Amino acid sequence: MNTLTAHDLPGQPHIAYADQQLMVEGQRLSDLARAHGTPLFVYSKAAMLSALAAYQRGFAGRQVQICYAMKANSNLAILQIFAHAGCGFDIVSGGELTRVLAAGGDPAKIIFSGVGKSRLEMQQALRAGIGCFNVESLAELDVLHQVALSMGQQAAVSLRVNPNVDPKTHPYISTGLKGNKFGIAHEETLHAYRHAASLSGLKVVGIDCHIGSQITETTPFLDTMDRMLDLVGEIEAAGIALQHIDFGGGLGINYNGDTPPQADALWAKLLAKLDARGYGQRQLMIEPGRSLVGNAGVCLTEVMYLKPSEQKNFCIVDAAMNDLPRPAMYQAFHQIVPVSPRSAVGTDKGDGVGLGAVYDVVGPVCESGDWIGRDRALQVQAGDVLAVLSAGAYCMSMASNYNSRGRAAEILVDGTQAHLIRQRESSFDTFALEQLV
Ligand code: PLP
Repeated sequence: MNTLTAHDLPGQPHIAYADQQLMVEGQRLSDLARAHGTPLFVYSKAAMLSALAAYQRGFAGRQVQICYAMKANSNLAILQIFAHAGCGFDIVSGGELTRVLAAGGDPAKIIFSGVGKSRLEMQQALRAGIGCFNVESLAELDVLHQVALSMGQQAAVSLRVNPNVDPKTHPYISTGLKGNKFGIAHEETLHAYRHAASLSGLKVVGIDCHIGSQITETTPFLDTMDRMLDLVGEIEAAGIALQHIDFGGGLGINYNGDTPPQADALWAKLLAKLDARGYGQRQLMIEPGRSLVGNAGVCLTEVMYLKPSEQKNFCIVDAAMNDLPRPAMYQAFHQIVPVSPRSAVGTDKGDGVGLGAVYDVVGPVCESGDWIGRDRALQVQAGDVLAVLSAGAYCMSMASNYNSRGRAAEILVDGTQAHLIRQRESSFDTFALEQLV
């Protein structure tokens, strides 16, 4: 059983209780739920900027481009915040490219990652003038070379290396081990670089890696840096100059008492390693996603029914796996807290589980995998609003219309202002592109 006190929120000063009300900055979440309905995602702009500031502090005096990995949360207003703050973007599709340009992102600061870029996506990115392609296979190098030549251009490339380091995270979000589909095997890297350098449609500019996500230990990052720098030495000894080193993303956040290093503390160690090995002045790039937005957002959901049963008590809420897919996808943990905590002694509606019981918190979707939290001690009644915490990353961006459920609305809080940054999808929106025959 996981118990939670109302004051035990993941280290996030911008999302906290005041006078028995959960607030995001200057906004009461109970007011936002009443005004906009549920499920509702609410994000704190200050929390995003302070997460970014931790990286910026760590990089003071260095040449670093922070490219927000927009797959974590690609709402236009959130992209706009990071673009205004000087960030570039790590994209993985033509759709993300279109989105980030619409949000005002600088094309020159865009890097294009992913194992399966199509010719059309390559053309779109070359036309837009993106900064660099992170290429993941020899076959992709050949296709990009052809596409660039056909457009009379040279594509800037960095090769994504698979360093075969265990990031010690969930297997589904581990990407830098042999056997993962990502990157070019460590031992094939030099051959791949020689091949890339021989193709006139390509210009080799960097090296790249990304070993996984929700990494909470420092050692995998340090080991990866060592392996990357070994490769930089070998590649440059072969006469291929590398302008930048892209160290990917992956830094974890506190979901449930996790203690990842702070971004600045992690980078103090990584930069010391770079300095010691003579690469301290090299242009760096990073691609953080989760650590910039994950703890900046919550998802509000209303308790619909309490359903006691012999083995389990269920707390059925109006958010579901289509809104919050991480628990169903990889048994991920989100804390769930009331926005207006009830006192321990309250009035029970007579159903036996009205207050102070242990529940599985589940959604209305017709799947047993549709759960949001298991064995949670909650004092709730139908009609109460709960906040699912740490919901800023890989929630709304992974949301779907399963069961023909419209996706949730999104609010950005900036001080005392609350901006609606995405309207709730209606049923009609969910089938707007379909046709009867
Ligand atoms: N870069 C690449 C290539 C990725 O695949 C990912 C996530 O999977 C990221 C960056 C962002 O990772 P995170 O959100 O863990 O920082």
